[in-house]
Parts: sequence; structure tokens; C-alpha cells
Amino acid sequence: MWRDLFSFHILGQSLAVDLGTSNTLICRKQHGIVLNVPTVMALRVSDGSVVGVGESARMMLGKTPRSIRAVRPLRDGVIADYETTRKLVTHFLELVQPYRSLIGPKLVLGVPTAATRVEQRALIDIGEDVGARAVHLVEEPVAAVIGAELPISEPTGHMIVDIGGGTSEAAVTSLNGVVVNRSIRVAGDEMDRAIVQYMREEYNLHIGEQMAEGIKKKIGCALAPDEQVTMKVRGRDLNDGFPHEVEISSGELSTVLSSVLTTILDMIEATLEVCPPALAGDIMEHGIYLAGGGASVKRFNEFVSARVKLPVHVVPDPLLAVVRGLGRLLVSPDLLAQVEITPDLK
Ligand code: ADP
Ligand code: MG
Repeated sequence: MWRDLFSFHILGQSLAVDLGTSNTLICRKQHGIVLNVPTVMALRVSDGSVVGVGESARMMLGKTPRSIRAVRPLRDGVIADYETTRKLVTHFLELVQPYRSLIGPKLVLGVPTAATRVEQRALIDIGEDVGARAVHLVEEPVAAVIGAELPISEPTGHMIVDIGGGTSEAAVTSLNGVVVNRSIRVAGDEMDRAIVQYMREEYNLHIGEQMAEGIKKKIGCALAPDEQVTMKVRGRDLNDGFPHEVEISSGELSTVLSSVLTTILDMIEATLEVCPPALAGDIMEHGIYLAGGGASVKRFNEFVSARVKLPVHVVPDPLLAVVRGLGRLLVSPDLLAQVEITPDLK
């Protein structure tokens, strides 16, 4: 307790932050994951004051009166609205740092490999603006490999595919870094939009993206399951405008999601095609690892495996892989020095 207080006040804290388009997770050194909330903020239009953050703000998406704006300040894994992101990160850091410290925290931040130097720089600026004493950037696929407890430092190729909200990214890592990568702006959100469109075209039913996300999480699958699962879906009938309920099955979902999942699969294949032969052998041996929320779509690993003819595994707790890896770096400064990137040199 006293040692804890001492380190808060005098030494400052060390925090790992996975600032994702959909979710933000924070890991505190020696405490594990202390925050896991949607990356959403609701602001009053008149004065920019904060109305809600995280889950409460997410509930407001698409439902706000003109006086309130609920926003996701990141797009495609990078900062799209700097000022709101700064406010949001400030708020999150206050939540996880119960005591004020004399010195700002050391931050280890995840960044997509596809981010430009300017986008990487913006993330460092946010860290400095919120008072961090040091800011370290680590590419998210590298963090995910560490989070999945794969040996990042060895001369062995690992292929990791991170399917988030806005983007999917595939990367081959070896010797503490990314060797090749590909990224597309097609991921979980696009699956939700495909469900909204299907409900409209097939059932004349208008549903919101939040409802679509709920359907995806509950019965979303890449291949039709042997035993069909069904779900009742409520929306607004497009003919008469009244509330209406229909029942849909997991088999339908596999058809609805197939085009989005095939686009992600094409990206995985494109990454395999540019992988150096020496590392391709390792991937053939160990297979491909799926991380991020989208990796939870049922039977997606089998769907990928059927086409690339390689074993495909979902990492344990795919939503937590990146923050776990970043968190491990808080206690391994030597490894952090090996894996961190500096925007000006990249
Ligand atoms: P980001 O890093 O972009 O914030 P995440 O890795 O947190 O993204 O993943 C968020 C995405 O994963 C969202 O599109 C969400 O709907 C989806 N997701 C979360 N859980 C599941 C699940 N059980 N099944 C399918 N998709 C899921
Ligand atoms: Mg992510």
C-alpha cells in the first residue's frame, strides 16, 4: 500500500494503452487491465463539455438530440479528431490514476503498422499533451504476438491477423519487428453494415448498427453451423413504419458475412504472397494467429484455413491480445527498447 502510494506520487505510473477505433484498453504495471471501454465520447455542442464517456457514450450513438454530439474520435485505427481524442485520453487516464502524481505516467501505446509517420506523431503528441513523462510506440501486430506469448525475439516468422472495428491488419513478424504487412479498411464495422443492409433487403426491416453488432456477436459465423441458432430481431418495418420482429438464423449470417470475410481473407493471402520464403516455412509449421474482436466470429479460423491450407488459431482472449502485449513491455524495458518504433526514423 505505502509502496504503491509512494510510486504514484513520486515515481509516476507506467501504463500501456491500446487506443482502438472501437475499444480502449489500459493495463497498469503490476495491476493488469484496469480499463476496457468503447472509444466513444459524448460532448455538449455549445461548450464542448463532456456528457458521457465509454459505454454510456456508446449507448448514445445515433440517438443524440441536436445539443449533444456522440463521436468515435478514431477512424481506421488512427486519430481522426485530435481534440476529442485528447479529452478522451485525459479522461481515461484520470479514471485509472486515482491519485495525482508529481510526475506524469510513462505510456506505452499501440499503433497500427499501416499508420503514417504523421499519424504516429499525432499519437506521441497526445501522450505529451496529457502530461506523460515518456511515450513509447509499439506496432500493434508486435504487441499482439507478445500478448499471445509467442517468441517475438527469435528469428522465427509469426503471422498475426488483427481484425478490429475499422481495420484489419495482417503482419509477419520476426526478430522483434514487422517484416511484411497488409491492412484494409474492412473489419467488424463493415460486418455490421452488411447485416443492416441484408435486413433491409431481405426483410424490409430497418435496424441500427448497434442491433446489427449484437446479431453478429450472438449468431455471426463464417461457416453455417451444424446446429442452426436463431435470434429474434426487432426493427422498423420499411413499408408501414411500425415496429416489427423477425427471426433470423446463423446460416443466413454466414451468407451475409461472406463477402466481408472473403475481403479479409484476400488480404491474408496477399500478405502470405509477399512473405519471404525463409519465414513462410515457419508459418507453414505454426500456422496463422487471429486476434482482435473480429477473430471471435465463429468458425472464421476454419474459413481461412480451408482456403490457405494452413492451421489457423484464434489467440486466447483475442480482444485483449494487444493490451496484454503492451502490458508485458511495462515490465520488460529491454524488450521495449528492442520493439519500440520512432516515427522520425521509420
Ligand atoms: P479496435 O482495435 O478497432 O478497437 P477491437 O479489437 O476492440 O477493435 O474489436 C472490435 C470489433 O470486434 C467490433 O467490430 C466488435 O463488434 C467486434 N466483436 C467483439 N466481440 C465480438 C464477437 N464475440 N463476435 C464477433 N465480433 C465481435
Ligand atoms: Mg485493435
